[in-house]
Amino acid sequence: RAKEERGTFAFFETGMDEDLRVRLGLEADLRLAMQRNELALHYQPLYNFAADRITAVEALLRWNSPARGSVPPAEFIPLAEQTGLIAPIGQWVLRTACAEAVTWPTTVRVAVNLSPAQFRHQQLVAIVRDTLAETGLPADRLELEITETVLRQDTEAVMATLHGLHELGVHVSLDDFGTGYSSLNYLRRFPFDKIKIDRSFVGGLMLVPAEAACDDTVMVAAKSAAMIVRAITGLGENLGIATTAEGVETAQQFAQIRHEGCTEVQGYFISPPRPAAEIEALLRRLDAT
Ligand code: C2E
Ligand code: CA
Ligand code: CA
Ligand code: CA
Repeated sequence: RAKEERGTFAFFETGMDEDLRVRLGLEADLRLAMQRNELALHYQPLYNFAADRITAVEALLRWNSPARGSVPPAEFIPLAEQTGLIAPIGQWVLRTACAEAVTWPTTVRVAVNLSPAQFRHQQLVAIVRDTLAETGLPADRLELEITETVLRQDTEAVMATLHGLHELGVHVSLDDFGTGYSSLNYLRRFPFDKIKIDRSFVGGLMLVPAEAACDDTVMVAAKSAAMIVRAITGLGENLGIATTAEGVETAQQFAQIRHEGCTEVQGYFISPPRPAAEIEALLRRLDAT
């Protein structure tokens, strides 16, 4: 009995509640973050080889909390998903990205990430249509990025939504390709406009030196990463789907990705994500030349 009481007491004082307390604190702060204007979008360019220019930029959410500093999306997006906060946040992201992009050169698309919960929302197609109408962004300047997690659920509803989005004229990209499990099956079932090759494959790439002086396992890993990039690029070519290599950080990776025939690259080598004003200035400068 005494032991039980101590245990109960301990629950409130220490140990096990720590995680929960941290989570609740984060959730409360995130709830206020929107009202307090602490959320912002940064944008990262996608460079197209054939066009030799930036053809799209991806909107990436940033939370600048006065108390917590800059909180990475990997920390607060899963929480927003679990708590339902993703609905208002996701709508804010979509609206803000469309409203900002409409003032950029018309040759550049904006790509917006959709979380699984957003995608499952019954009204998603209507929300996207209304947002385009309100902001004035033409549908074909919007790309929506979804991951395979989205596709694993109720297939009929998913297909109806994907087709509904296509009918609006927006582009749909399959993000983090290769990290899920039945990617190929999805490609067969729905005509995606773009496949984004996960950066784990790109990170494994390296130019194989003429004199193979490297450690064997490193070589094998690099060769298989190159084979996977080559296979996905070939698949895209055959299916008429553009391919983007994500996470290109070095000149070597850039050269190799170009050699493998990917449509586009994205990564720190081209540019890290930048605030809207900087990206707009960059796009204007490039558009004028
Ligand atoms: P993602 O959609 O795969 O976005 C690409 C991530 O890779 C971004 O991380 C970007 O900053 C990072 N990145 C870009 N180039 C490089 C590179 O060369 N090297 C390395 N190591 N990383 C690179 P970020 O901004 O931290 O976002 C992480 C994830 O959070 C995103 O992955 C996406 O899944 C999610 N996310 C971000 N913004 C949103 C949003 O508005 N809505 C939703 N639902 N998810 C978002
Ligand atoms: Ca502007
Ligand atoms: Ca993405
Ligand atoms: Ca990705």
